[in-house]
Amino acid sequence: MSYTPMIEQYLKIKADYQDCFLFFRLGDFYEMFFEDAKKAALELEITLTSRDGGKIPMCGVPFHSAESYIKALIDKGYKVAICEQVEDPKVAKGVVKREVVQLITPGTVMEGNMLDDKENNYLAVVKEIADQQFAFAYTDMSTGETFVMEIKRGWSAVLSELYNRPIKEVVVEQELSTTYIDELKEKMQLTVSYAKETKSNQAITELVENISNDRLKQTCMVLYQYLFHTQKRAIDHLKKAQEIELAEYMTLDMYSQRNLEITSSLLRKEKFGSLLWVIDRTVTAMGARKLKKWLERPLLTQSLIEKRLDLVNGFYDQFFEREEIREALQSIYDMERLSGRVSFGNVNARDLIQLKRSLAKVPFIKQLLKQFDNNAVQALSDNMDPLPELFELLDNSIAEDPPISITEGHLLKDGYHQELDQYRDASRNGKHWIAELEQKEKADTNIKSLKIGFNRVFGYYIEVTRPNLPMIPEGRYQRKQTLTNAERFITEDLKEKETLILEAEEKSVELEYQLFLDLREKVKMYIPELQHLAETISEIDVLQSFATVSEENNYVRPYFTKDHHIYLEESRHPVVEKVMKNEQFVPNTLELADDKHLLLITGPNMSGKSTYMRQLALTIIMAQVGCFVPAQRAELSITDQIFTRIGAADDLVSGQSTFMVEMLESNHAIQHATEDSLILLDEIGRGTSTYDGMALAQAIIEYIHDDIKAKTLFSTHYHELTSLEENLSALKNIHVRAEEIEGKVVFLHQIHDGAADESYGIHVAQLAGLPDSLIKRANVILHQLEGESSDKTLFSKNRKENDLTMEQIAFFAPEEPAKKEEKSANHEIIESLQKIKLLEMT
Ligand code: ADP
Repeated sequence: MSYTPMIEQYLKIKADYQDCFLFFRLGDFYEMFFEDAKKAALELEITLTSRDGGKIPMCGVPFHSAESYIKALIDKGYKVAICEQVEDPKVAKGVVKREVVQLITPGTVMEGNMLDDKENNYLAVVKEIADQQFAFAYTDMSTGETFVMEIKRGWSAVLSELYNRPIKEVVVEQELSTTYIDELKEKMQLTVSYAKETKSNQAITELVENISNDRLKQTCMVLYQYLFHTQKRAIDHLKKAQEIELAEYMTLDMYSQRNLEITSSLLRKEKFGSLLWVIDRTVTAMGARKLKKWLERPLLTQSLIEKRLDLVNGFYDQFFEREEIREALQSIYDMERLSGRVSFGNVNARDLIQLKRSLAKVPFIKQLLKQFDNNAVQALSDNMDPLPELFELLDNSIAEDPPISITEGHLLKDGYHQELDQYRDASRNGKHWIAELEQKEKADTNIKSLKIGFNRVFGYYIEVTRPNLPMIPEGRYQRKQTLTNAERFITEDLKEKETLILEAEEKSVELEYQLFLDLREKVKMYIPELQHLAETISEIDVLQSFATVSEENNYVRPYFTKDHHIYLEESRHPVVEKVMKNEQFVPNTLELADDKHLLLITGPNMSGKSTYMRQLALTIIMAQVGCFVPAQRAELSITDQIFTRIGAADDLVSGQSTFMVEMLESNHAIQHATEDSLILLDEIGRGTSTYDGMALAQAIIEYIHDDIKAKTLFSTHYHELTSLEENLSALKNIHVRAEEIEGKVVFLHQIHDGAADESYGIHVAQLAGLPDSLIKRANVILHQLEGESSDKTLFSKNRKENDLTMEQIAFFAPEEPAKKEEKSANHEIIESLQKIKLLEMT
């Protein structure tokens, strides 16, 4: 099949951009053809047409509104190659030359409204450097920062790094195993791109010069090469890559990040209901992004944590000054992203005005910081350079209320540039002359309604209404245009002046554009300083945010102990206490020590076991990012890792069974935990048969108790496990009770020492109104079983001789279906009780 030369050109370019939508510039439209067109028509809901006699499917979007269409495609994970006409169609011989000038991909978007203000937008690269060892780097093009690290704990640790961090796209090399690539695409829902070899350039060499480790250097280079490949231009605002030593931060694997709902809630996957939602009182976009970053990597070094806490303390103590800082920060513009846009030439005069106003606030913020008693807070002020020369430059140049467009003039102030002033004067003088002419003509002709007007087609003209026409002296004006009610005239002089004015205006607009570009280049020189300032401002914002929530929610400053002692007096769950509407959250005290590092929690469903467990983890995380914590008093030890197996967070995506996920998560914890770690295990063993489950649960507890010695909270249905306390010296039983108040089951959510009452299930059933005969029967069975269990102790002192004969008694346990012949009305009640999904009830 033969195509027109233009389609041939299209196909040639498209061949290099197979995995992108090719936006092919044709006049005022970006057109797409063939498969691209069909797919885009569907995705963007635009009309599919055709070309060349119906042979070639085609669709297009107008150039001026392309951004929203591009955004829609990017949001869906696609990539878009922008192909422009690179020569003037008027002078082109044959088909106009076209080239791809930029590739927009989910990980490299820069355009303001395609980005979420409060979130970073990362592009990552993963490289396998040895068996189950990876190098991992990520960069945010909009802010210019890049981080790189070695991941030695296998592929799942790579996924943990990817999880919950706003990574939109991952660059891989051909060698990476397809299993991994599929997982990135399907499980993590990421756009995967292949690395592009480009010649290494000076810029890249400089960006990686801080990285000493060769393999990490290589990895960063892959990342930067991909960036340059997509942007096809110099990128001036990129900061040097920073190496992250994972061992310096708390490890929170993917399961824990998800289960603990740190930055997004489990069910709805939104910020509401997460820890971030509670503690985010930042007022700038930079601060919001910084807070999220801190939360993604809690610290391990006590001195660094204390440093943050000291600062929070300072802000906490002075409400009035803090409020003033908050208010001042509100008018600070996103300088961090502005730097990126300056470097890309995407800023307009309005951005620069906002930058100027932000800089104007800096001296005031510095002064406010000086008013704090706290030395650390005061010292922040020294780290803020208000960049007076830049301020002055902007103040002298940019007009106060400039237009968005940078090509139509009115961007710059009078007095900024002599030549510009001259043009402006010429135009003003001309206009003044015209105004005088109008007066003169009015007077000479005695036509009061005579006026001088202007339009783009005819330029300046003298307009006289029809009834007044006879009053014009013969030969005074030349007729130019006839309207229904008036005639328009010109004179030689008027046209001469018009030429002068228009020339001056044209030149002034052109000059302004040039001057604006020069100005932008000058602002570019300040990028590193602006980035530094942005860094300090975002930190101040996070610190004031911590102080603000801490005060509003009655948090206290945590203290760190050297031994593994943890003491939380009247501890609360930071999120649950915030979402409770009618009830009051019940605080509970929690204590752990080297010789009591394992708490076994029993109690009915919905009594508050998992809330108690989670609140410990969240408290530790809050403390280690530098925030105060929800308690009356908090003594903590620094926790290196948190592992969780909590609740009903089934791994639906990978299609694994609940039990398999449970075992995977438990194994993960057991493999990696140290005595400085925290492990939360919620009802391990539920997903399998009773004996199986109980046996595994006991074995896991023993293993942690004897070998790992990690701080562990273990909640269980298996009441039998509570007798472990007799043998395991570091294990302590605690429980939550369901109380009976005026004949109703009430959860007081109070944690007590010791094991839960064994018959609580039957008790609850009784309160729920099950028939007396059934309750009696249940009691008989229970006693019988208790009798058996005292003969054959399940958890014999010699653990090797365990004899698993005992039944689980948990009332709500679903495993034991009723025998057919026993089916009775009572069973219907039990069945309907079983069907109740307690976890989904409010
Ligand atoms: P369990 O793990 O025992 O099944 P949860 O910890 O899921 O129970 O708690 C169930 C519900 O009880 C929570 O959603 C919360 O509304 C409430 N709750 C838990 N702990 C408390 C508490 N300390 N004070 C008040 N309400 C609580």
